Amino acid sequence: MTGGLRVPVALLRRRDAAPRVVRATAVLDGLRIGNVGVDGDEVVLDFEVGASGTDIVASGTVDVDWTGECRRCLEPVNGHLRAEVREVFRAEDPLWPGEGDAGDTYPLESDAGELLVDLEVVARDAVLLALPISPLCGEDCSGPDPERFPAVSEEVAEPGDGAVEPERDPRWAALDVLREPGDDG
Ligand SMILES: [Zn+2]
Repeated sequence: MTGGLRVPVALLRRRDAAPRVVRATAVLDGLRIGNVGVDGDEVVLDFEVGASGTDIVASGTVDVDWTGECRRCLEPVNGHLRAEVREVFRAEDPLWPGEGDAGDTYPLESDAGELLVDLEVVARDAVLLALPISPLCGEDCSGPDPERFPAVSEEVAEPGDGAVEPERDPRWAALDVLREPGDDG
């Protein structure tokens, strides 16, 4: 149920319109980075949305509970994060579509001729940016129990750090021939 996250721009641009408060709990799937994901896909938004000139500004907070795996001991870790958000929505210039500082702003969406601000996109981006990438169960986590999990450590996950070279793809053999020093020339 994310319908409440789309706010008609016409409402915000009314003369003397006060910023609109959007408080909602939305279920947004796919909010996951590695083995860290949002509990129940549940995202709590508390936004104020208002017109500023021709732009629409959305500011507020996004809250989620997350669950992941400790990067050292691989035990489950839980946490809560609150992301502060302030984003600008801007209509595309019809004369110069694709131009301008599109990278810093969100586009306004059009649905059956009605312009909309879609807060779901902002909430998703904020959560994905704020989720911890490799959480620890605690600063003092001593890593895997060496008795139970010998030789398992974070280094294993990092390519290029291992002592064992992976088996080579036979297709690279052709490159080796090309690289052979002292060719006939
Ligand atoms: Zn741990």
